[in-house]
Amino acid sequence: MTGINISRRRLIELGRATASFTLAAAAIPGPVLAQTGGRPGARGRPMPANVSLPSRPTRPRPGSVGYAIVGLGDYALKQMMPRFDRSQRSHIAALVSGNPEKLARVGDAYGVPEDARYSYEQYDRIAADRRIEAVYIVLPTGLHADFAVRAFAAGKHVLCEKPMALTSADCERMIAAARRADRKLMIAYRVHFEPHNIEAMALMQRRAVGNIRFVRTEQLSRTDPSSTPSENWRISRTLAGGGPLEDYGIYGLQSALYLTGEMPESITATAFRPANDPRFTEVFASVASQLRFPSGAVAQLATSYDAHGSNIAHVLGDTGALIMDPATSYEGHEMRLEGRERRSFSLGDPTVQFAGQLDHLSDAIRDGAAIRTPGEMGLRDVRLMEAIYAAAESGRAVRLDPDGQMRR
Ligand code: NDP
Repeated sequence: MTGINISRRRLIELGRATASFTLAAAAIPGPVLAQTGGRPGARGRPMPANVSLPSRPTRPRPGSVGYAIVGLGDYALKQMMPRFDRSQRSHIAALVSGNPEKLARVGDAYGVPEDARYSYEQYDRIAADRRIEAVYIVLPTGLHADFAVRAFAAGKHVLCEKPMALTSADCERMIAAARRADRKLMIAYRVHFEPHNIEAMALMQRRAVGNIRFVRTEQLSRTDPSSTPSENWRISRTLAGGGPLEDYGIYGLQSALYLTGEMPESITATAFRPANDPRFTEVFASVASQLRFPSGAVAQLATSYDAHGSNIAHVLGDTGALIMDPATSYEGHEMRLEGRERRSFSLGDPTVQFAGQLDHLSDAIRDGAAIRTPGEMGLRDVRLMEAIYAAAESGRAVRLDPDGQMRR
C-alpha cells in the first residue's frame, strides 16, 4: 500500500474515470496532432463573463519590457493582464483583438494608447511600433504558430501560451523563426514559477520519497454538455487538436517529467470518444497514458473533458510519497510528504507564478538570462503528445529517443 489517504469517494471517482478509458477503444481518424485540417483563422469573440477591468491604468516602470497582448479572451483578461501590475519589468504596451468594442473598452481600462490597438488584419504593423518589444500570444492553440512566426518576422520576442502548437512541425517552424530573427521564444508554462511546484522539483531531486516508482497525474473536468465545436474552440479539431491532453493534460505530462527528472523511453495509451455526444465529434473526451522511464519509474496520466474535476500529481517512491492536490491550478495549492519524511508545505502565494513568468522573459530580454521554459521544451512536449496519440492509435507501445522523437 502507498500510505496515501485517498477517500472512498475519490477511489470510486478514480475507478469510474479509468473504467471509461478501458471500456471503449477510440475510433481515431488518423494522427490527431498532424491532421488538423486547413489553417484556422483568427476572429474576435465577445467579452467573457465576469471580467473585472482596472479602475485606473498603472504607469509602466521605467525600463520595463512592453508586451502586445494578442487575443483578449478569458485567460488574458482574468488571469494574465491583471498580473502585469505585480511584475517588475513588464508592462502592457499594445493589444491585438478581433473585437473592436472589446478592444476599445480594454484599451481604455489599461491605458493603452489608441494607436497601439491592433486588429488581426493590422497585426504585421507591430513591426514599426517600437513600444512593443515582446508579443504574448494568448490565442487558441491552432493559431499560435502563425502568430509567433509573424511576430518574429516583425522583430519581436515571443511569450507563447501552452501548448506551443498543434504539431511538432509547427513547433520547429517557430524555433527556426526565432533563431532567424535572433529573438527569444518562451512557452508560458507558469507552474515553473509557482512555489509549490518549484519546491516539489527540489524535493524530488534530493530524493525525499526515495527512488521514484510511480507518478500519477489527473487533469479532469466536465465540459458543458451544450457546447459545440463552432462556439467552443477547445472542442474543435483545427484549433485544439485532440482536446483535453493538449489543453491541460499537458500539465500532467509536464509534472511527470519535472518530478522524475527523466524523459520516457516508451509510452502506451488509450483515447476515448463516446458516440452521439455533440461535444466529442472532433476531439477526444478522455486520454489515459502510461510512460515508462529509464529508471523503471512509471507515470500514469489521466485527462478528460468528461469526468469529475481533479488536478493532482502524486509521486510514490520506495520510502515515501509526495501528494499535490491541487497540483497545477492558479491558486489554492496543497502539498505534503508522507512516509519517512512527513510534513505539509505552506509556501506562500501561488499567484506569483503569473508575474514571475512575465518577468522571467523580460530578464532574458534585458540581461540575456537563460529561459527556463524555452521553445525546445514546448517542442519536446508536443512530440510526446504525438507519441501518446500514436500509441493510442496503434494499441502498441511507442518507443522514444531521449529527445522525445518516436523511434521508427
Ligand atoms: P478564450 O476562448 O477565452 O479566448 C481566446 C481568444 O482568442 C478570444 O477571446 C479571441 O480574442 C481570440 N481568438 C482569435 N481567433 C479565435 C477563434 N477562431 N476562436 C476563438 N477565439 C479566437 O481562450 P483562453 O483565454 O482560455 O485560452 C487562450 C490560450 O491560453 C490558449 O492557448 C490556452 O491553452 C491558454 N491558456 C493557458 C492557461 C494556463 O494556465 N497557462 C489557462 C487557460 C488558457 P479577441 O476576441 O480579442 O479577438
